[in-house]
Amino acid sequence: MSWFNRIATGLGTVIGVMVETARTVIDEVKSGYENYKKRGGVTRGAAKAERARRSDTLKDINAELADIRRRAREGRAGDAERRRWGDLREQRAETMREQDQAKEVGAAEKIIDGAEGINKVVIDDGNIHIITANAFADVVNKTCGVCGRKMKLQWRRDIDSPSSSDLFWGCTGWYFQNGGKRRCTNTQKLDANDRALMVDTTMPEFQTTEEDFSAILGIPDIQKTVIERVDDLASDLGTKNAGVEVATCPVHGEALVLKKKASGAKGLLDMYHLRCPYWLPNDEGCPFIEKLKSGSQLAVLLKSETGTGIL
Ligand SMILES: [Zn+2]
Ligand SMILES: [Zn+2]
Repeated sequence: MSWFNRIATGLGTVIGVMVETARTVIDEVKSGYENYKKRGGVTRGAAKAERARRSDTLKDINAELADIRRRAREGRAGDAERRRWGDLREQRAETMREQDQAKEVGAAEKIIDGAEGINKVVIDDGNIHIITANAFADVVNKTCGVCGRKMKLQWRRDIDSPSSSDLFWGCTGWYFQNGGKRRCTNTQKLDANDRALMVDTTMPEFQTTEEDFSAILGIPDIQKTVIERVDDLASDLGTKNAGVEVATCPVHGEALVLKKKASGAKGLLDMYHLRCPYWLPNDEGCPFIEKLKSGSQLAVLLKSETGTGIL
């Protein structure tokens, strides 16, 4: 059902373009998009409105599921609830499939709108921040070969500054457990093709080397500004009870919420995370959390939410 046969992130970065030119890929995205429109597919403002409507539907479904779960725990759920549970789970899966299609449309529009500034970048250790920037965002069309769940760009949590060989695709089933066992631990090495990206290189953060960008981020005044801006964003979103635009929970389908560590952060890159709105302390809610652990992630998050990055 996917018309956009490329791996892309919600940020409009296309992954896996080693052999093509930027022009070829943009033309391909444009023609897929035009065909989708000809078949009656919704785009732009209408697509955005539909996305918002589906988000509300997901909220309702998730709330009802949580309610049934609570009653089941208390031994108060009967056959009717069990049937309703099954129906709701199906509805949620269908709504999330539609939402995924909308994400493809959104990614394509970002690429088409930014076409002038989009260039091919081949990742090495000197510009790795360009690919790690994408590591929190939803990925379109990259699914696990073992279980079919979505995969995301990852590197090990204990590595502060990854080199390009530390990056891999990790199944989102890893975050969820069943009887103490992770639901899926499949990973896949990034291949040579995955290291070729198409990205909006007009972003000043992408015009520096990773070394220079890290050095700039190390300047106390810059850090202070970044912290103020991310705090403001978190508080704005909190007031609106809203999540971030480009990252959703793979189970609940709702936008992730931006949070700051209450205490004990070891610096800027240990301060913020995105988590599912159904997260609860003591492992009682949804465990889906994405740490924002690179400066370029903070930059593209700020850019995506406020229109301006860090530099
Ligand atoms: Zn998997
Ligand atoms: Zn969740």
